[in-house]
Amino acid sequence: MTDQQLRLSFEFFPAKTPEGREKLLKVRTQLSEFEPDFFSVTYGAGGSTRDNTKGLVKHFHSLGVPVAPHLSFGGDTEESIKALIDEYRDAGIERMVALRGDMPSGVGGSFEMVYANELVAFIRKHYGDHFHLEVAAYPEIHPQAKSYGEDIRYLKGKFDAGANSGITQYFYNPDAYFYFMDQCHRAGIQQPIYPGIMPIINYRNLTRFSDACGAEIPRWLRKRLESYGEDAESLKAFGEELVTELCEVLLENGAPGLHFYTMNQYEPTASIVRNLGLVPAEVTDSAVSE
Ligand code: FAD
Repeated sequence: MTDQQLRLSFEFFPAKTPEGREKLLKVRTQLSEFEPDFFSVTYGAGGSTRDNTKGLVKHFHSLGVPVAPHLSFGGDTEESIKALIDEYRDAGIERMVALRGDMPSGVGGSFEMVYANELVAFIRKHYGDHFHLEVAAYPEIHPQAKSYGEDIRYLKGKFDAGANSGITQYFYNPDAYFYFMDQCHRAGIQQPIYPGIMPIINYRNLTRFSDACGAEIPRWLRKRLESYGEDAESLKAFGEELVTELCEVLLENGAPGLHFYTMNQYEPTASIVRNLGLVPAEVTDSAVSE
């Protein structure tokens, strides 16, 4: 990266098919050109992608690629979650994204969720400072939170339990992040919280995700995206410009780096990172000499 102070990370979800996995591996290789600080791999609701997440994380690590598994208790017992973390530690993994996660669909109401602060405390208790722990943060507030203040208090609880840094849910209104950071500082949170960035690739999928996770797409933006109808190329071009501007505003106003929800695709993330000039010197040099 041009600015060594900025942290850059890229998130994948485990592919469901062999073709998807092949594509993901290629995208990972391509995105490595930006020398991200790490890649992360999500963990399906209730641990549904446990083996796929683990397989991918260990594969990346074996290639010398910095990688962080996402992890939640889901329906696991303490023994089985500990066995999984042991495996990561023994493989040499040093970073994790610790989450409560969501209830897998079809699981009844008696299922007891383990809050993310409890998972952080569990990892610190058993593994000391071995892992750098990331936790989730919500500038537009977690959909189940009872109030803004309560959500910030619970976030502080995750840091008090030993988390090192946060990554946010995506958002398109930079003021939501700045206000949130202000409130976090007032609540005594000193740790860095990295904005999560969702490139705009497909309107229907974006609204579906956003409705599910409580990320707001401002009305003007919904209307603008709707207006592209089936014109996918124009939508992507508009999305690239908009998200690049969002990232510029965030970085100019003190965001400590960026975490991209890549959706396992190269171009949408790569074009934004290039627009921002977050390209290692040797990549810029070779582009000039070509
Ligand atoms: P928590 O921090 O535990 O919070 C959950 C809710 O409970 C909030 O409303 C909070 O206010 C409240 N709360 C927190 N602590 C307490 C407490 N001690 N007592 C009472 N209430 C409390 N989902 C996946 O399934 N897999 C993934 O890989 C994944 N990766 C993610 C990565 C990032 C960066 C983000 C932002 C989200 C990710 N998610 C993932 C989604 C996440 O799992 C959901 O948003 C989930 O509903 C909450 O997880 P959490 O870790 O934020 O939970």
